[in-house]
Amino acid sequence: MSSFRSGIAAIIGRPNAGKSTLLNRLLGEKLAIVSPKPQTTRNRILGAVSRPGAQLLLLDTPGIHQAKGELNRFMVDVALGAIDEADLVLYVAEAAIDARGNVEPGETAEQIAKRLRAAGKPVILALNKCDRLARPVLLPIIDTWRKLYPFTQIVPISALKNEGLDLLEQELTRLLPEGEPLLPADQLTDAPESFFVGELIREQVLRSCREEIPYSAAVVIDHFDESEREPLEERPGKALSGLVRIAATLFVERDSQKAIVIGKRGAMLKSIGEKSRHEIERLLGAHVYLSLLVKVEPRWSERVDGLGRMGYRR
Ligand code: GDP
Ligand code: MG
Repeated sequence: MSSFRSGIAAIIGRPNAGKSTLLNRLLGEKLAIVSPKPQTTRNRILGAVSRPGAQLLLLDTPGIHQAKGELNRFMVDVALGAIDEADLVLYVAEAAIDARGNVEPGETAEQIAKRLRAAGKPVILALNKCDRLARPVLLPIIDTWRKLYPFTQIVPISALKNEGLDLLEQELTRLLPEGEPLLPADQLTDAPESFFVGELIREQVLRSCREEIPYSAAVVIDHFDESEREPLEERPGKALSGLVRIAATLFVERDSQKAIVIGKRGAMLKSIGEKSRHEIERLLGAHVYLSLLVKVEPRWSERVDGLGRMGYRR
């Protein structure tokens, strides 16, 4: 009789490597928000892949970088902390090489390698974005990575194009310890719905605004009223039923930023609100009434208590 395997894999890597895209692909659901901007992911996000013989709990994490500022330090701590929580590590890096033959900016790669050595857990390297690469370039990239760290396995993938992901999942599952499932098979994550609602709003802010706004933006859910919600089993197909009333505050750090996210005659805020409402309705399967306010909380990203107010707690 074959025995069940279950365990936790921490997805780590530099900002923008494609960690969140990969999490969503392996889950087959959009759980983590994705954007072309660095530092999109701020928390550890758990996604459970439940298969007949195994349960793989993936932890998506913020990008590891040379952190300046309290929010960045918090994010790097979250990422490195996930390594300690995990049975194995999935290191995601862009399959790229620069003119000098370097595959990653040195300092961060060193920092990560040191931490991985100390943890002593199996590490799979997923070389992502292979869709951008000509095949012959891949071999020297793999060789260079091999010299940097004794990876258990190196798997070239494209998270965006869904290439190499079956093999990657097989390799991850093979390394899981034997054990009972850690979560019920129908449970996708451990965070409450309201967390993902806040993330969907922040995603629209990231998509709509440029420059310093994404880093300074945080969303707090003030009110999540489900009293008019209907049980999901009763909705035919993907139709929305029932109503959820949500009140949220979008925090920025300066008056000038507040003016930008509100926009001319409120046009920007209206568009952010409408787009996020559609996404939230899809997530909840219910109609959503969303009231969205903008407030200034000066320098919240520079202070531990400011971070705590936005829900970023160690
Ligand atoms: P994270 O910061 O590591 O979580 O990266 P994201 O998942 O947010 O992705 C960063 C950017 O890279 C987004 O614009 C993605 O669409 C893009 N991306 C992710 N995976 C791939 C891939 O396999 N190929 C290409 N070309 N782009 C990708
Ligand atoms: Mg991410």
